[in-house]
Amino acid sequence: MEIKKEFPIFDDENLHYLDTAATSQKPQVVLDSIERYYKNYNGNPGRGSYKLVMDSTRIFEDSRKTVQRFLNAKEKEEIIFTKSTTESINLLAYSFGLEFINEGDEIILGITNHHANIVPWQMVAKKKKAKIKYIYLHENGQFDLDDFKYKISRRTKLVAFSAVSNVTGVVHPIDEVVEIAHNNGAYVLVDAAQALLHFPIDVLKSNIDFLAFSGHKLFAPMGIGILYGKRQLLEKMPPFLFGGDMIEFVTEQNSTFAPIPNKFEGGTQNVEGAYGLSEAINYLNGIGYDQINKIEHDLEMKALFELRNLGFVTTYHTENVERVGVIAFNVNGVHSHDVAFILDYYGVGVRSGHHCAQPLMNYLEIPSCCRASFGVYNDAGDVEKLIEGLRKVKEVFK
Ligand code: PLP
Repeated sequence: MEIKKEFPIFDDENLHYLDTAATSQKPQVVLDSIERYYKNYNGNPGRGSYKLVMDSTRIFEDSRKTVQRFLNAKEKEEIIFTKSTTESINLLAYSFGLEFINEGDEIILGITNHHANIVPWQMVAKKKKAKIKYIYLHENGQFDLDDFKYKISRRTKLVAFSAVSNVTGVVHPIDEVVEIAHNNGAYVLVDAAQALLHFPIDVLKSNIDFLAFSGHKLFAPMGIGILYGKRQLLEKMPPFLFGGDMIEFVTEQNSTFAPIPNKFEGGTQNVEGAYGLSEAINYLNGIGYDQINKIEHDLEMKALFELRNLGFVTTYHTENVERVGVIAFNVNGVHSHDVAFILDYYGVGVRSGHHCAQPLMNYLEIPSCCRASFGVYNDAGDVEKLIEGLRKVKEVFK
């Protein structure tokens, strides 16, 4: 209850937000940081030597250090600011992908990947005549690592997968995937968009080559994201966005490029977003993952029990597998968009449709579904409203 009060959007007591996997709500401390930045420190970082520029540069670089500590990266230069997970993966695809993936090479993707971690690799595969393969699943929704071991070979250049499925909430085994990939000489990209709100990832300990995430799924503002990469890989990669501040020298015909991370940060950066992200990380650390998991897990279990009790809802919630607070479901015989539309009358926000994961939905043979996802600010009242709304759906569509 107390945590909910820290998020001003919930001053509206009729709001029952169950779509944290799409984007998280923002605590007051994060909103305050954005206002503080513009009221006191706004300057264009790295462009000049007067006080506001110095302040803005310091805030931007301190935020980079906060992200470095959050991921346990070895050096702050390994943290690249982008606008989102999508942009981070595109950066990697255009830079690493087009430079180092060649004809006959293979890219292995998780079948649970979000389109953001599929479509850029399809672009690379088409341009470079490479081949895409997928890791399929066990019955419980977990990666079939035997399938993965069977498919990977010395031709595999990259394995790109989500740490957590945004549809099923299943947590994939990062360390095992990294080990199998590295044993075959492949690099690994972990899409941590759905993971870091629920558990930490230590890029050094897990020996991850690249990792991407979005601030907005982590209590931070929209428009700020991260690409982590090991220094030796980032240094070899060509720039993605060309322009101001990513150069060393520019002549009429040629340019040389700045060292990392600036090489990948062309143009004016989202400083208030970076600041908001560092405040969000501090806020998250202040609550702690143990408390977050306890709250989310209890709500997930309550919701699951009540959904199953309704008798007219199918849940796609597998057991005996590590997962985060996400439940995919359908009201039997009713399209997910209709369900979400009626739930909205009850102030309940759930996602409906294919969840930007069409290959997974096809693989699971689910054309569309609803998804309720829980955040640390949810409470039992939100679950009760969901159930009340679903009873109404049944009444309307009987
Ligand atoms: N990857 C996963 C697993 C996601 O769930 C999402 C968004 O839902 C994304 C990538 C894309 O994130 P963004 O839209 O912030 O770039």
